[in-house]
Amino acid sequence: MKCPVCHLPDSRVMDSRPIDDGSSIRRRRECPSCGKRFTTYEVIDTEPIAVIKRDGRREIFDKHKLALGIQRACQKRDVNSEQIAESIEAELQSSQVTEISSTDIGELVLTRLKETDIISYIRFASVYREFKDIDSFMDEIKSIYRRSRKKVAAKAEVKSDD
Ligand SMILES: [Zn+2]
Repeated sequence: MKCPVCHLPDSRVMDSRPIDDGSSIRRRRECPSCGKRFTTYEVIDTEPIAVIKRDGRREIFDKHKLALGIQRACQKRDVNSEQIAESIEAELQSSQVTEISSTDIGELVLTRLKETDIISYIRFASVYREFKDIDSFMDEIKSIYRRSRKKVAAKAEVKSDD
């Protein structure tokens, strides 16, 4: 496994352990050149996905870590963060993506939150989209509000047709 920092083609496995009922193996690795420690997952017929962070650092996509991030933004909301993280992982694996930016992952989360819980969506968006100023944030909220009113109006119309 190539080192994510210095790209040395080889790394040393420090520890291997089965996870998810043995359907995958988690390995702690260390680069013998720069000393970087990182984690890889071995799963059947799927490649680990590299996440490129805003500062350019890379790490292996970890659905549990993603679920925690979603959970933090959606505290006390009825949102199944594990399920969202799992569906994102499934989407990435089925599209055979080998690397993705953390910004794009944030957008995938937002797409799902928008469908499930608008409060969580706004909270998550405020953290991950890093709105430049309060105006652009308010614009986003207004456009969501307009869309949701249109939805309600459309539903009401359907009902009145009954
Ligand atoms: Zn290295």
